[in-house]
Amino acid sequence: MRAPTSDLPIRFENVTVAAGAVTILDSITLTLTSGSPTVLVGPNGSGKSTLLRAAMGLVTPSQGRVTWGGREDVPPTRRAIVLQRPVMLRRTASGNIHYALRASGVARAEKQSRIGELLALVGLEQLVDRPARRLSGGEQQRLALARGLARDPAVLFLDEPTASLDPAATKAIEDIIHAVSQRGIKVVVATHDLGEARRLAGDIVLLHRGRVIETGPTVSFFNTPQTGEAKTFIAGELLV
Ligand code: ADP
Repeated sequence: MRAPTSDLPIRFENVTVAAGAVTILDSITLTLTSGSPTVLVGPNGSGKSTLLRAAMGLVTPSQGRVTWGGREDVPPTRRAIVLQRPVMLRRTASGNIHYALRASGVARAEKQSRIGELLALVGLEQLVDRPARRLSGGEQQRLALARGLARDPAVLFLDEPTASLDPAATKAIEDIIHAVSQRGIKVVVATHDLGEARRLAGDIVLLHRGRVIETGPTVSFFNTPQTGEAKTFIAGELLV
């Protein structure tokens, strides 16, 4: 995998996303830089998924702009997103990766070695010929990560990657995220799970009602939160 830089930093400049009368993201100004994972936290409905989609380029701001490496209109060839409930193709595990590699234009001669490399990275070498839809929830999520990585992304966006997984499956996903990050890929994760945020994040972005409430390095976010919302959220109380 290449050492990625060109899509970074990703800058949100006063970005508002509205759907009809509903404001989903409200005047977001935020910079995502290379380095350790950035974790978006906040209650359900706070705008985490929409922010990820806008950073991917899948959602166009109603106001403001998003830039990638200082430019607008950068095609998303070096960005990948794994959605909360990834849909497995009706193929084997390797067939799913094969499809993703073909979609990203990987040469035929390279495909088998890349499939092996990606399956090893996500620990699914033993399940290469298993129909993807018969994999467990955690295995499907790992396969979805491999499909995302097949694009050789500079930035990987993950939307609640461990929602509804048990602790062992969650650990497997988090270990992959650490490995991916150590390869130089920028990971941006949305989660409502504070434990996960602590384990994964280099820096935290707290969203509430479509606004960025607080950002900062993980240690200072948890040890010295600056806002009432952050204190409430960290205390495990309901942020409504
Ligand atoms: P989160 O990922 O934090 O749960 P989302 O980004 O999914 O938040 O959603 C933020 C809010 O915007 C929610 O209240 C959701 O219902 C609303 N929303 C998202 N997409 C649309 C849409 N296309 N039309 C109207 N409301 C939407």
